[in-house]
Amino acid sequence: MIAEDMMKLGKKSSVIREIFEYGNKRKQEIGAENVFDFSIGNPSVPAPESVKKTILDLVENMDATELHGYTSAPGDMEVRKAIAAYINRTFDAGVNAEDIYMTVGAAASLTISIKALAQQGDEFITFTPFFPEYRVFVEAVGATLVTVASREEDFQVDVSTLEKAITEKTKAIILNSPNNPSGVVLTEETIQGICDLLEEKQKEYGHAIYIITDEPYRELVYDAIEVPYLINYYDNTIVGYSFSKSLSLPGERIGYIVVSNKMEQARDVFAAVCGAGRALGYVCAPSLFQRVAAKCIGQTSDISIYKRNRDLLYRSLEKYGYHCVKPDGAFYLFVQALEEDANAFCERAKKYELLLVPADDFGCPGYVRISYCVTTEQIERALPAFEKLAKEYEH
Ligand code: PLP
Repeated sequence: MIAEDMMKLGKKSSVIREIFEYGNKRKQEIGAENVFDFSIGNPSVPAPESVKKTILDLVENMDATELHGYTSAPGDMEVRKAIAAYINRTFDAGVNAEDIYMTVGAAASLTISIKALAQQGDEFITFTPFFPEYRVFVEAVGATLVTVASREEDFQVDVSTLEKAITEKTKAIILNSPNNPSGVVLTEETIQGICDLLEEKQKEYGHAIYIITDEPYRELVYDAIEVPYLINYYDNTIVGYSFSKSLSLPGERIGYIVVSNKMEQARDVFAAVCGAGRALGYVCAPSLFQRVAAKCIGQTSDISIYKRNRDLLYRSLEKYGYHCVKPDGAFYLFVQALEEDANAFCERAKKYELLLVPADDFGCPGYVRISYCVTTEQIERALPAFEKLAKEYEH
């Protein structure tokens, strides 16, 4: 007998993947230029030129056995020093190189952090709408994902709703800001409210409740919005970061974890992170891209393109009668479907070759996600289709 839960997981592809595959088929049938695929979150802006230069420089000038060899499990020490220095320069967070663990992207930052903390029966809380893989990651370690509804008017966390969901079994809260799929950035006031509540609850239950941040979109913010750095607000914080979106390197699999050294037993928690990485068989993050990340940290792809896309799409959709909270970051628009059933709405959108993702798996039935990490030209060409779709619902 094999592991049935894993078999089920392998057989069931995500809604996003299904729509993406449908789009590929449709593109072959009617031509790529006639399909308006807004399904997937693959950065559409290339990595900055400095990434290419750094790769070439490393390949040409660094000793090949070292460059392509194993690093120590938490990562190369010079890389970890460079990342800690950047974090301290930028956020003044008092982080040491020894607190950094290099990972293969945000997904691994999460699976490792969750495995490092979870005991059978623990609860991990997150907020709707949420990245659907959280459920997979949490359930894989025998824990339960508890979902708490965000405020519908602005998708900020309502602290009193959160309070009702916290129990003796709560091990951690997973925070994703800027958020996939809403694009919302949690305000400092919201963060402070969550942290104050958790401090209280830790005292009440007499054990730690951790915050795990999932922040692959940290730098993808528009209009000078600040994204609070959690280590400066809450001691029991584990930061999960990825370069997938900021440097447009999702296929290269590179990111890191920071275990705040301000938490109690920080070295034991860090050891648990190392143990979880080991148990999951990660060995070490890609050696070449650890070095690329260290040298290019602080730079980003040309984010002005995403801002242009957001402004164009948001303005146009509002004009056509759609409703959504204006996103401050990431590259998604989270829109109310024009009928109750978002799946039926997405089916109807296909008539106009518009590929949108229903948000049921994100914990928000009745909404759809539109990924605007596409060319601005695709958005311009798709606008009449969005307008026609809205008109169908006018009477
Ligand atoms: N978390 C969120 C919220 C995401 O949107 C994604 C990818 O889209 C991930 C994690 C996984 O990112 P990575 O490719 O760095 O593993």
